[in-house]
Amino acid sequence: MKIEQPDLPYAMNALEPYISQETLEYHYGKHHKTYVDKTNSLIEGTEYADMDLESIIKKASGGLFNQAAQVWNHTFYWNSMSPNGGGEPKGPIADAIRESFGSFENLQKEFNEKTAGNFASGWGWIVKNKADSSLKIVETDDAETPLTDDSVVPLITCDIWEHAYYIDYRNARPKYLEAWWNLVNWDFVNQNFEK
Ligand code: MN
Repeated sequence: MKIEQPDLPYAMNALEPYISQETLEYHYGKHHKTYVDKTNSLIEGTEYADMDLESIIKKASGGLFNQAAQVWNHTFYWNSMSPNGGGEPKGPIADAIRESFGSFENLQKEFNEKTAGNFASGWGWIVKNKADSSLKIVETDDAETPLTDDSVVPLITCDIWEHAYYIDYRNARPKYLEAWWNLVNWDFVNQNFEK
């Protein structure tokens, strides 16, 4: 089964002015596509060839894990943003944020501090603990993904690899994080929260 790169859920220029068309042309068109292509070449003729992407990620290690997890993480990232996103959280997630963080402002502050402070390339996530539906912020390095943690459900992610922001914000990761909140797709967060 060939792993496909899902269509970007909006036009290449739809996230402007926060994320430029040029960034998406490179990030979706080259980086994400390369992870898809490399995954396909690594699984060809192996026991992974007929597995779906999530099963590959849960079983693989090393190079294949890195490529396959990056395919999944990026698709999740595109869906985490919307041209109509941003603003205050709405729906069930709004209550959950208040319960776990006290306020939306506290969540943003903690998320920005943790992700800006991550020395590595990686990802910032908000996840739901399956046991009690509480929320927590998780940072992962490189291609690591909370998809492999059976105790949580990933709700949203922000890519903090330099390739995600260098064209638009150069080395200023905190400015990119600030802009990213204007794109947060709360409908997607709520869909994941209700899983
Ligand atoms: Mn990326």
